[in-house]
Amino acid sequence: MSNKPPNQDQRNPSLSDTTIQKNNTTGYAILHHKCPRCREGNIFRYPFLQKPIKFTATHKSCPNCGLQYEQEPGFFVGAMYVSYAMTMAILLGTAFILYNFFGDPQLIIYITTVPAVVLLLLPIVFRYSRTIFLYGFGGIKYNPEIVKTDRR
Ligand SMILES: [Zn+2]
Repeated sequence: MSNKPPNQDQRNPSLSDTTIQKNNTTGYAILHHKCPRCREGNIFRYPFLQKPIKFTATHKSCPNCGLQYEQEPGFFVGAMYVSYAMTMAILLGTAFILYNFFGDPQLIIYITTVPAVVLLLLPIVFRYSRTIFLYGFGGIKYNPEIVKTDRR
């Protein structure tokens, strides 16, 4: 009998512990585009892989706690600055990779590849620029109790 002691397999409680306890860190919430106040409701209407065409569709307010995302008209115009910074990073990063790992190819490769990568990542940049802007400039504090107290 070469069976392992039965305890060996059951001795992994960390996995079930972490799945029971919800991950409510700021990083997790930003990564998954969650509401900055309750970190439960989604900012965007559809998961990207479900309806990639509608990647811009943003909830007006949090479906969970009711927080209005667009706090004033044109609030998300400011997200353009975040988007600009992200696009520049992608642009320079792509050029850096081409230069260092693809042996500095011909100019035409840069001219076609760099915009193609920027375009491909556009939905990701759009979503993260809005989410990061909302977290950075929305002035909204995390309140896990908000649903219990403020919901009608
Ligand atoms: Zn919320």
